[in-house]
Amino acid sequence: MKPKAKGSGFREPRRDRVTHWLGLQKEYLHDTYKSRGKLSEPTVCPQCGALFHKGRWTWRPRPAGAHEEICPACHRIRDDYPAGILELSGPFLETHKEEVLNAVRNQEAQAKREHPLCRIIKIDEKAEGIVITTTDTHLPRRIGETLWHAYHGELDLHYGQDPRLIRMTWRG
Ligand SMILES: [Zn+2]
Repeated sequence: MKPKAKGSGFREPRRDRVTHWLGLQKEYLHDTYKSRGKLSEPTVCPQCGALFHKGRWTWRPRPAGAHEEICPACHRIRDDYPAGILELSGPFLETHKEEVLNAVRNQEAQAKREHPLCRIIKIDEKAEGIVITTTDTHLPRRIGETLWHAYHGELDLHYGQDPRLIRMTWRG
């Protein structure tokens, strides 16, 4: 038997929804921000300096004679077209906004170091809370889980109609 999580919990997405989502992976791969034909190597992003090397984007130094093409993350930032959304709300957030936002930015910095395409597009402070949009689908979960481990509260993951967009909510 699996141990029960302490406190109010993080609900895993329902299995059928996940399967449904995975079933749509094919379509996901045709996302224009993911596959834009075969990139020649080496290719460097003129915006952020990421280097496409051995099939993936890295932070390796730019070699001489590299091709130039905008990376998928900069492309999404330019178009303001998020792959992930994280919504933060609740009384804890109201009284600890700076602390929470620091944790958010730390997580982004760590993720981005390892995975150049994991970035925050925008942090929007609204009356009802903070909305963070991201260039990939993993970052909202990574940040959300960090907040949940540090401050508890309620964490939920939502898959909508569009499998290319993930939405996570944290109420602290
Ligand atoms: Zn870039």
